Amino acid sequence: MILKELISNLALLIASLFTYTQTTQAAPLSRSSTFRNKMVSGILAGVLSNVLMQYSMRFDSTIVDLRHIPIILVAYYGGTFPGIAAMCLVVVGRFLIGFNTSSLLALLMITSITLITLTITRLNLTKRIKILLTLTASNVIFTGMIVYLLQNKTTLLVLIPSFWIISYTAGFVSFYVVEFVRRSQNLLNKYKAEAATDGLTGLNNVRKFDQSFNEIASQAVHKEEKLSLLYIDIDHFKKVNDTYGHKEGDQVLIELSRILKNTVRSFDIVSRNGGEEFTVILLDCPTDRANEISERIREKVENHSFLLTTGQMIHITVSIGLACYNETTSKPKLLIKEADHALYDAKQTGRNKVCIAPSHQWASHRA
Ligand code: GH3
Ligand code: MG
Ligand code: MG
Repeated sequence: MILKELISNLALLIASLFTYTQTTQAAPLSRSSTFRNKMVSGILAGVLSNVLMQYSMRFDSTIVDLRHIPIILVAYYGGTFPGIAAMCLVVVGRFLIGFNTSSLLALLMITSITLITLTITRLNLTKRIKILLTLTASNVIFTGMIVYLLQNKTTLLVLIPSFWIISYTAGFVSFYVVEFVRRSQNLLNKYKAEAATDGLTGLNNVRKFDQSFNEIASQAVHKEEKLSLLYIDIDHFKKVNDTYGHKEGDQVLIELSRILKNTVRSFDIVSRNGGEEFTVILLDCPTDRANEISERIREKVENHSFLLTTGQMIHITVSIGLACYNETTSKPKLLIKEADHALYDAKQTGRNKVCIAPSHQWASHRA
């Protein structure tokens, strides 16, 4: 009978944990989580413990269940604040069931389990040992309480080993479920990030560029903001590869990415769209400001000494094509084509220069 009831507790616990970890996929609970995240997790753990209490078994004047597991979990992953929040909810819930010696002892038990978990998680031990110690400590505390409360030896002989087995099983299975879901989520997030990142430079790749561009373009239309786009291409890059080798060429691409990132504003979006071609999406940025930024990039690259792995220093230049939504074009969809044409113009008219898409009469020239 005891096993049957505790197993139904276990099923409820696992189903809840699975749902919880799925819904917090974007920001799994940790010691560095936001206050709000910790608060919500603490409350949910407290609520789950209270639900588990409703499924508890009654032995004489005491009740037995798995209420300690959500508290241990939340204290283990989130630290003091969510642990204490969950603990307080459990204490309140237990007193609502009844106020007697048993509930006072339950208060003592749950407080000690929370404090011991918080202490153990701070120790310099492996995850497995920490989990084993935490569960063992809570089983020992429970046994102490139950021996004090129950005089009936026959019941104790069944209850204690059953509780140890189920508490260990529930504890380890719960940790396993949480760790499993977290690991899968981490991998998924990692793959998502990799699918959007250029492996060589760490910038956005062309897929991410397309996605960001579409989102930002529709926002610019909605907010009636100006949006500029730069197409940047290294001049005579083939020569760099031919002279110094492909590996050194890669080194130049990495260094150029750094320059681009450091020259634009932090919220602008820099991508490597392929080969030696880069783009910068300049948010809320009119043509004249975008032209200043482009000139700054062009000058910085021209004056920079690119260090090769051989220790040699080389110089390169870039050509830049610029187009601006609401100024050079009234259709954001045409920005890419216009910026690309402007880049072509820059290449055709001498390289190492910035060209602005045609509807503007003015254009900056080589410094
Ligand atoms: P232009 O001034 O007209 O742009 O001349 P270019 O030589 O830069 O242009 P072209 O398109 O003829 O050559 C681009 C070169 O970029 C060819 C290719 O070897 C090199 N390249 C493309 N991707 C990579 C890469 O990932 N690493 C390295 N090292 N080189 C690359
Ligand atoms: Mg080139
Ligand atoms: Mg090119």
